[in-house]
Amino acid sequence: MKPTHIEHIGIAVNSIAEAIPFYEKVLGLKCYNIEEVADQRVRTAFFMIGQTKIELLESTDPEGPIGKFIEKRGEGIHHIAYAVESIEERLREAEEAGIRLIDAAPRRGAEGLSIAFLHPKSTFGVLTELCEDRERDNNKQ
Ligand code: ZN
Repeated sequence: MKPTHIEHIGIAVNSIAEAIPFYEKVLGLKCYNIEEVADQRVRTAFFMIGQTKIELLESTDPEGPIGKFIEKRGEGIHHIAYAVESIEERLREAEEAGIRLIDAAPRRGAEGLSIAFLHPKSTFGVLTELCEDRERDNNKQ
């Protein structure tokens, strides 16, 4: 797949308002975007560190994926996202390699990225996200 970098690390929290001061005051990062992704029933807060983001995920619905995750496992690391190019081809490669896909086709995630998840049963317990920043890639050309 040759990911170029870790695009972000997704961290499930009960409350982004309560978690932001740790990232800003203790780690000294700056929250540059808060965005609700209705589709995934989450509110997200982003911090940049090098080329990588920290994505805090607060559930907006106890029945949503983050609500269920926190209920089962508590707050903590939820997923790792790799930046890739040509995400449809990468998904096809993963499927050919026998990896179980959560998303057979990419969908729109926070910050306008095209995203797709691989199932943690196929990835040694880590929910794995592929991300493609098409706008940035188009701007490069
Ligand atoms: Zn993510």
